Order: sequence, then structure tokens, then C-alpha cells
Amino acid sequence: MARVVLLAGGNTGDVKRTLQSAQQLVNDRVGAVLRCSHRYESEPWGFSGARFSNQALEVSTDLAPEEVLDAVQRIECELGRNRAAETLEKARTGAAYVSRPIDIDILFYDDAVIRSERLTVPHPRLAEREFALVPLCEIMRGRRHPVSGLTVAQMLDALRAQSSEQPCGK
Ligand code: ATP
Ligand code: CA
Ligand code: CA
Repeated sequence: MARVVLLAGGNTGDVKRTLQSAQQLVNDRVGAVLRCSHRYESEPWGFSGARFSNQALEVSTDLAPEEVLDAVQRIECELGRNRAAETLEKARTGAAYVSRPIDIDILFYDDAVIRSERLTVPHPRLAEREFALVPLCEIMRGRRHPVSGLTVAQMLDALRAQSSEQPCGK
């Protein structure tokens, strides 16, 4: 049995309902949802568009890391995420990220450090993302990153200190 930590977010459609469905499907297919944060709103990261709503989930699972990825990608697809349309939109706008009804990332899988073709765990951009660290902090502020050794709360403080040093808070 492992503990996997997910971040579910989206910015199109009925996001509240989609996140509720995602949580139910994760509970059914990945494993029992032990803790979940509130939903937090944030500006889109890397493109301009509607605000995102994000939620962190801690899940107890019997699945291997890549099986968790398969399961969450299937859930994304069933909840209306269309990767082909996203690829076209990225080509059209030149942006690295585009709007979507649901995105589910794996932030941690126990204390595993994974760098395979399909999967990097802990999530490689976690320390740069306030929208991920804020919900995570609500449910596990003392959890340590297995590589940096920093707690989630320390990562958030470091990111905020870094942002406030830069002009315009960027
Ligand atoms: P980002 O990963 O920067 O948040 P994204 O969520 O928009 O970007 P996606 O298009 O959802 O990116 O996923 C691209 C690929 O990332 C997936 O096909 C998956 O193989 C890979 N991936 C690598 N590490 C992870 C992870 N920890 N969680 C989810 N997907 C991952
Ligand atoms: Ca993501
Ligand atoms: Ca993703």
C-alpha cells in the first residue's frame, strides 16, 4: 500500500462538479481518498485564460506509479479532457499550457524518486507553483520533499520570498 498525492485542477466547464467527479473516480479506481484540501482559485500559469480551481488529494493505493498515471489520464479523458484539441490549441497560440476541464498530476508517490519516460515524481515543477503548494500545505504542510528535504510549508515560503524579491511580484 502506498500513499500517492495528486493535484486536480481545471478552468473550463463546471469545475466544481468536475473536481467532485474526479475525486469520486480517484476513490473508486486509484484508492481511498484519505484527505482532500479545499478548492483554491488561481490565475492560469503560463498562458492567459479563465482562473483555475485546484485541489490536493492524498490517496491510499495498491497501484504502481505508472498505473496511477494510467488511471488518472483515463479519468481526465472521461471527464472531457481532449488532448488532441489541446495540441492544436498549443500550436495555434504558441503557449505551453492551454485551458482544460481537468488535469490531474502526481505530486508525490510515497518518498519515491522516479524519472521514467512517462513519469517524473515528485512533480518536477512543484516548488515553482504556488497553486499546487497552497492546497498541499492545507493537508500536509510538514511533509518533506524526498530530494530537497524541504517541507511543503518551507517550499511555499521560499517561493513567496523569491517572488517578492522580483519587480512586479513575478
Ligand atoms: P505540467 O506537468 O507542467 O503540469 P500538464 O499537466 O499540462 O503540464 P499534461 O499534458 O497533463 O501536462 O501531461 C504531459 C505528460 O506529463 C503526461 O503524458 C505524463 O506522461 C507526463 N508526466 C510526467 N510526470 C508526471 C506527473 N508527475 N504527473 C502527471 N503526469 C506526468
Ligand atoms: Ca499539470
Ligand atoms: Ca498533467
